[in-house]
Amino acid sequence: MKLDKKGLLIVISGPSGVGKGTVRDALFQMKGHDLTFSVSMTTRQPREGEVDGREYFFVTRDEFEERIKEGKFLEYTEFVGNYYGTPLDKVNEALKDGKEMVLEIEVEGAKQVRKIMPDAVFIFIAPPTIGDLEKRLNKRGTESKEIINERYQKAIREIGLAYQYDYIVVNDTVDNAADKIMAIIRAEHARTTRSLEGYMENLKLEEVDHD
Ligand code: 5GP
Repeated sequence: MKLDKKGLLIVISGPSGVGKGTVRDALFQMKGHDLTFSVSMTTRQPREGEVDGREYFFVTRDEFEERIKEGKFLEYTEFVGNYYGTPLDKVNEALKDGKEMVLEIEVEGAKQVRKIMPDAVFIFIAPPTIGDLEKRLNKRGTESKEIINERYQKAIREIGLAYQYDYIVVNDTVDNAADKIMAIIRAEHARTTRSLEGYMENLKLEEVDHD
C-alpha cells in the first residue's frame, strides 16, 4: 500500500573516486522501485563510453551560462574547472508525478538543494579508507596528474562535510551500499510526516484523538 503520494527527491553525494556511479547502477538494477535518475548538464568533456543525454547533457560554457541566466537549474556549481547543474524542469515533472528522483551531485549543489527542498533525503557515500579513494582516482586513467590531485584534495574536503547529510553509506561493497540506499528510501517513505496523511485518508477516519 503506497501511503506517501508525493514524489521523493533523493540527493546522493560523495567524493570523486568513491564509486558513486557503480553504486547508482546497482541501485537502478534492483527490482521493485520507481527511481528516475536526474541527468545533469555539464561543460566537461565526455569520458570514453559516456553518451550525451545518458550520463550527462554535454554543453559549452556559453550554453550553460545562458541557462543559468534563464533560471533553468535547480542548483549548479563549478567543480574542478567545469560547470555542473541539475535541470529544474525534469525534477519538477518527476515530483509532480509522484516519482522518486535521484540526484547525484557534489556537496555544494546538495547544500543549495537542502535550502530549496528541505524535504529531500540527503545521502553521503563514503570510502572505507582514504587509500581506497586514492587507488580508484589513479585507476581511472582518463585524467592528468594535476586533475587527479585536485580531485583528491577536493575529495578530502568533501568528506569533511559529510555531517551535513542525513545518512552516511560506506561503499565497502557495491551491493551492500546499494542495499543500504534502498533501505533508506523505503524507510523515508514510511516516515510519519510523509505517510500519515495518506494512511488517515485510507482509513477514512474523520476525527482522530491525538492524546
Ligand atoms: P564527474 O566529472 O566525476 O562526472 O563529476 C564531478 C562531480 O560533479 C561529482 O561529484 C558529481 O557527483 C558532481 N555532479 C554531477 N552532476 C552534478 C550536478 O548537476 N550538480 C552538482 N552540483 N554536481 C554534480
